[in-house]
Amino acid sequence: FIHFDQVTKSFGSLRVVDNLDLRVEKGEFLSLLGPSGSGKTTLLMMLAGFENPSQGSIRLDGTPIENMPSHRRNMGVVFQNYALFPHMTVAENVAFPLLMRGVGKAETVRQVTRALDMVRLGHLKERRPAQLSGGQQQRVALTRALVFEPTVVLMDEPLGALDKQLREHMQLELRDLHRKLGLTVIFVTHDQSEALTMSDRIALFNAGRIEQLDTPEGIYDRPRTRFVAEFIGETN
Ligand code: ATP
Repeated sequence: FIHFDQVTKSFGSLRVVDNLDLRVEKGEFLSLLGPSGSGKTTLLMMLAGFENPSQGSIRLDGTPIENMPSHRRNMGVVFQNYALFPHMTVAENVAFPLLMRGVGKAETVRQVTRALDMVRLGHLKERRPAQLSGGQQQRVALTRALVFEPTVVLMDEPLGALDKQLREHMQLELRDLHRKLGLTVIFVTHDQSEALTMSDRIALFNAGRIEQLDTPEGIYDRPRTRFVAEFIGETN
Protein backbone atom coordinates (compact mmCIF):
# COMPACT_ATOMS: atom_id res chain seq x y z
CA PHE A 1 0.00 0.00 0.00
CA ILE A 2 2.73 2.48 1.04
CA HIS A 3 6.17 1.43 -0.13
CA PHE A 4 9.45 3.02 0.87
CA ASP A 5 12.23 1.80 -1.39
CA GLN A 6 15.78 2.50 -0.28
CA VAL A 7 14.84 5.95 0.99
CA THR A 8 17.60 8.18 2.28
CA LYS A 9 17.19 11.70 3.63
CA SER A 10 20.23 13.83 4.42
CA PHE A 11 20.48 17.31 5.85
CA GLY A 12 23.98 18.44 4.85
CA SER A 13 26.28 15.64 5.87
CA LEU A 14 23.77 14.21 8.36
CA ARG A 15 21.95 11.08 7.19
CA VAL A 16 18.70 11.23 9.08
CA VAL A 17 16.98 8.38 7.23
CA ASP A 18 19.40 5.78 5.95
CA ASN A 19 18.52 3.55 3.00
CA LEU A 20 15.20 2.54 4.44
CA ASP A 21 12.77 -0.08 3.11
CA LEU A 22 9.29 -0.22 4.60
CA ARG A 23 5.91 -1.55 3.51
CA VAL A 24 2.86 -0.24 5.30
CA GLU A 25 -0.26 -2.41 4.99
CA LYS A 26 -3.65 -0.90 4.23
CA GLY A 27 -5.70 -0.48 7.40
CA GLU A 28 -2.91 -1.12 9.86
CA PHE A 29 -1.94 0.88 12.91
CA LEU A 30 1.82 1.22 12.61
CA SER A 31 3.87 2.93 15.29
CA LEU A 32 7.28 4.41 14.66
CA LEU A 33 9.11 4.10 17.94
CA GLY A 34 12.65 5.09 18.82
CA PRO A 35 14.91 7.58 20.53
CA SER A 36 14.87 11.29 19.80
CA GLY A 37 16.61 12.13 16.54
CA SER A 38 16.29 8.65 15.02
CA GLY A 39 14.40 9.91 11.95
CA LYS A 40 10.75 9.17 12.77
CA THR A 41 9.42 12.67 12.18
CA THR A 42 11.45 13.03 8.99
CA LEU A 43 9.80 9.89 7.62
CA LEU A 44 6.33 11.36 8.23
CA MET A 45 7.36 14.68 6.70
CA MET A 46 8.36 12.89 3.50
CA LEU A 47 5.04 11.04 3.37
CA ALA A 48 3.08 14.23 3.94
CA GLY A 49 5.07 15.97 1.21
CA PHE A 50 6.73 18.54 3.47
CA GLU A 51 10.16 17.08 2.61
CA ASN A 52 11.47 15.13 -0.38
CA PRO A 53 13.76 12.10 -0.11
CA SER A 54 17.41 12.68 -1.05
CA GLN A 55 17.42 9.21 -2.63
CA GLY A 56 14.99 6.37 -3.19
CA SER A 57 11.27 6.44 -3.80
CA ILE A 58 8.00 6.37 -1.91
CA ARG A 59 4.93 4.91 -3.61
CA LEU A 60 1.30 5.10 -2.58
CA ASP A 61 -0.83 2.40 -4.19
CA GLY A 62 1.90 1.95 -6.78
CA THR A 63 2.21 5.63 -7.74
CA PRO A 64 5.34 7.58 -6.79
CA ILE A 65 4.23 10.30 -4.40
CA GLU A 66 7.06 12.74 -5.18
CA ASN A 67 5.01 14.41 -7.87
CA MET A 68 1.63 13.92 -6.27
CA PRO A 69 0.14 17.17 -4.91
CA SER A 70 -0.60 16.91 -1.22
CA HIS A 71 -4.40 16.91 -1.58
CA ARG A 72 -4.14 13.86 -3.84
CA ARG A 73 -2.21 11.98 -1.18
CA ASN A 74 -5.39 12.33 0.89
CA MET A 75 -3.54 12.16 4.20
CA GLY A 76 -4.69 13.64 7.46
CA VAL A 77 -1.87 15.01 9.60
CA VAL A 78 -1.65 15.73 13.30
CA PHE A 79 1.78 17.24 13.91
CA GLN A 80 2.86 19.06 17.02
CA ASN A 81 4.05 22.04 15.00
CA TYR A 82 0.91 22.04 12.90
CA ALA A 83 -1.37 23.47 15.53
CA LEU A 84 -4.92 24.77 15.26
CA PHE A 85 -5.39 28.16 13.65
CA PRO A 86 -5.71 30.47 16.69
CA HIS A 87 -7.82 33.13 15.01
CA MET A 88 -10.46 30.64 13.83
CA THR A 89 -13.21 28.99 15.83
CA VAL A 90 -13.29 25.25 16.39
CA ALA A 91 -15.87 24.87 13.61
CA GLU A 92 -13.80 26.99 11.20
CA ASN A 93 -10.68 24.95 11.96
CA VAL A 94 -12.47 21.71 11.18
CA ALA A 95 -14.08 23.22 8.08
CA PHE A 96 -10.73 24.33 6.67
CA PRO A 97 -9.61 21.10 4.93
CA LEU A 98 -13.09 20.66 3.41
CA LEU A 99 -13.18 24.20 2.00
CA MET A 100 -9.62 23.66 0.69
CA ARG A 101 -10.92 20.66 -1.22
CA GLY A 102 -13.73 22.63 -2.77
CA VAL A 103 -16.58 21.16 -0.73
CA GLY A 104 -19.60 23.51 -0.78
CA LYS A 105 -20.59 25.65 2.17
CA ALA A 106 -23.78 23.83 3.18
CA GLU A 107 -22.17 20.40 2.85
CA THR A 108 -19.19 21.63 4.89
CA VAL A 109 -21.44 22.80 7.72
CA ARG A 110 -23.20 19.45 7.70
CA GLN A 111 -19.98 17.45 7.82
CA VAL A 112 -18.35 19.66 10.46
CA THR A 113 -21.38 19.35 12.72
CA ARG A 114 -21.46 15.59 12.35
CA ALA A 115 -17.71 15.24 12.97
CA LEU A 116 -17.72 17.45 16.07
CA ASP A 117 -20.76 15.70 17.51
CA MET A 118 -19.03 12.37 17.01
CA VAL A 119 -16.13 13.41 19.27
CA ARG A 120 -18.54 15.15 21.67
CA LEU A 121 -17.24 18.63 20.94
CA GLY A 122 -20.38 20.01 19.32
CA HIS A 123 -21.08 22.36 22.23
CA LEU A 124 -17.65 24.01 21.83
CA LYS A 125 -17.78 24.77 18.14
CA GLU A 126 -17.91 28.55 18.44
CA ARG A 127 -14.91 28.72 20.78
CA ARG A 128 -11.37 29.60 19.79
CA PRO A 129 -8.49 27.21 20.51
CA ALA A 130 -7.15 29.32 23.40
CA GLN A 131 -10.47 28.79 25.21
CA LEU A 132 -10.08 24.99 25.18
CA SER A 133 -8.12 22.58 27.35
CA GLY A 134 -5.09 20.81 25.88
CA GLY A 135 -7.05 17.61 25.48
CA GLN A 136 -9.93 19.37 23.75
CA GLN A 137 -7.47 21.06 21.39
CA GLN A 138 -5.96 17.73 20.47
CA ARG A 139 -9.40 16.28 19.82
CA VAL A 140 -10.17 19.20 17.51
CA ALA A 141 -6.83 18.68 15.71
CA LEU A 142 -7.70 15.02 15.30
CA THR A 143 -11.16 15.88 14.00
CA ARG A 144 -9.66 18.31 11.51
CA ALA A 145 -7.34 15.55 10.29
CA LEU A 146 -10.20 13.07 9.86
CA VAL A 147 -13.09 15.17 8.60
CA PHE A 148 -12.29 14.78 4.90
CA GLU A 149 -12.14 10.99 5.23
CA PRO A 150 -8.46 10.52 4.53
CA THR A 151 -7.18 7.07 3.67
CA VAL A 152 -4.04 7.58 5.75
CA VAL A 153 -3.52 9.50 8.97
CA LEU A 154 -0.05 10.61 10.05
CA MET A 155 0.39 11.48 13.69
CA ASP A 156 3.50 12.82 15.36
CA GLU A 157 3.27 12.42 19.13
CA PRO A 158 -0.32 13.63 19.09
CA LEU A 159 -0.83 12.77 22.75
CA GLY A 160 2.48 14.16 23.95
CA ALA A 161 1.12 17.18 25.78
CA LEU A 162 -1.57 15.35 27.74
CA ASP A 163 -1.62 14.20 31.34
CA LYS A 164 -1.68 10.47 31.99
CA GLN A 165 -5.42 10.04 32.42
CA LEU A 166 -6.39 12.00 29.34
CA ARG A 167 -3.66 10.30 27.38
CA GLU A 168 -5.06 6.88 28.18
CA HIS A 169 -8.55 8.01 27.30
CA MET A 170 -7.37 9.39 23.95
CA GLN A 171 -5.42 6.20 23.22
CA LEU A 172 -8.64 4.23 23.48
CA GLU A 173 -10.53 6.77 21.42
CA LEU A 174 -7.90 6.68 18.69
CA ARG A 175 -7.86 2.90 18.53
CA ASP A 176 -11.62 2.96 18.31
CA LEU A 177 -11.65 5.47 15.45
CA HIS A 178 -8.99 3.48 13.63
CA ARG A 179 -11.09 0.32 13.83
CA LYS A 180 -14.39 1.99 12.98
CA LEU A 181 -13.13 3.89 9.96
CA GLY A 182 -10.67 1.28 8.69
CA LEU A 183 -7.92 3.91 8.62
CA THR A 184 -4.26 3.36 7.97
CA VAL A 185 -2.52 5.08 10.84
CA ILE A 186 1.19 5.89 11.12
CA PHE A 187 1.87 7.04 14.61
CA VAL A 188 5.16 8.46 15.92
CA THR A 189 5.93 8.05 19.58
CA HIS A 190 8.94 7.63 21.82
CA ASP A 191 6.78 6.03 24.51
CA GLN A 192 7.33 2.27 24.56
CA SER A 193 4.15 1.34 26.41
CA GLU A 194 2.02 3.54 24.15
CA ALA A 195 3.41 1.80 21.07
CA LEU A 196 3.00 -1.65 22.62
CA THR A 197 -0.65 -1.15 23.57
CA MET A 198 -1.87 0.67 20.47
CA SER A 199 -0.17 -0.84 17.44
CA ASP A 200 -0.71 -3.67 15.03
CA ARG A 201 2.99 -3.38 14.24
CA ILE A 202 5.91 -1.37 15.53
CA ALA A 203 8.92 -0.14 13.57
CA LEU A 204 11.70 0.45 16.06
CA PHE A 205 14.08 3.13 14.78
CA ASN A 206 17.73 3.57 15.58
CA ALA A 207 19.84 6.20 13.82
CA GLY A 208 17.80 6.39 10.62
CA ARG A 209 17.32 2.66 10.23
CA ILE A 210 14.63 0.23 11.31
CA GLU A 211 16.12 -2.08 13.87
CA GLN A 212 13.07 -4.35 14.06
CA LEU A 213 9.64 -4.31 12.41
CA ASP A 214 7.28 -6.60 14.23
CA THR A 215 4.08 -7.05 16.21
CA PRO A 216 4.13 -5.69 19.77
CA GLU A 217 4.47 -9.28 21.04
CA GLY A 218 7.40 -9.92 18.72
CA ILE A 219 9.19 -6.75 19.77
CA TYR A 220 8.54 -7.39 23.44
CA ASP A 221 9.11 -11.15 23.65
CA ARG A 222 11.62 -11.70 20.87
CA PRO A 223 13.85 -8.61 20.53
CA ARG A 224 16.23 -9.28 17.69
CA THR A 225 19.06 -7.02 18.82
CA ARG A 226 20.47 -5.76 22.05
CA PHE A 227 19.34 -2.24 21.12
CA VAL A 228 15.70 -3.40 20.86
CA ALA A 229 15.86 -5.27 24.15
CA GLU A 230 17.37 -2.29 25.95
CA PHE A 231 15.03 0.28 24.41
CA ILE A 232 11.92 -1.74 25.28
CA GLY A 233 13.30 -2.52 28.73
CA GLU A 234 13.65 1.15 29.63
CA THR A 235 10.85 2.51 31.75
CA ASN A 236 9.36 5.86 30.90
P1 ATP B 1 12.03 13.24 17.96
O1 ATP B 1 11.43 12.10 18.68
O2 ATP B 1 12.94 14.07 18.83
O3 ATP B 1 11.08 14.08 17.17
P2 ATP B 1 12.79 11.93 15.52
O4 ATP B 1 13.14 10.51 15.59
O5 ATP B 1 11.44 12.29 15.05
O6 ATP B 1 13.07 12.60 16.91
P3 ATP B 1 13.69 13.62 13.45
O7 ATP B 1 12.86 14.77 13.89
O8 ATP B 1 13.30 12.91 12.24
O9 ATP B 1 13.88 12.59 14.61
O10 ATP B 1 15.15 14.22 13.28
C1 ATP B 1 16.27 13.44 12.96
C2 ATP B 1 17.50 14.33 12.88
O11 ATP B 1 17.38 15.18 11.74
C3 ATP B 1 17.74 15.22 14.06
O12 ATP B 1 19.11 15.15 14.38
C4 ATP B 1 17.35 16.58 13.56
O13 ATP B 1 18.11 17.57 14.21
C5 ATP B 1 17.66 16.51 12.10
N1 ATP B 1 16.78 17.37 11.26
C6 ATP B 1 15.45 17.26 11.12
N2 ATP B 1 14.95 18.18 10.28
C7 ATP B 1 16.00 18.92 9.86
C8 ATP B 1 16.16 20.04 8.98
N3 ATP B 1 15.11 20.58 8.35
N4 ATP B 1 17.40 20.53 8.82
C9 ATP B 1 18.46 19.99 9.44
N5 ATP B 1 18.39 18.93 10.29
C10 ATP B 1 17.18 18.40 10.50
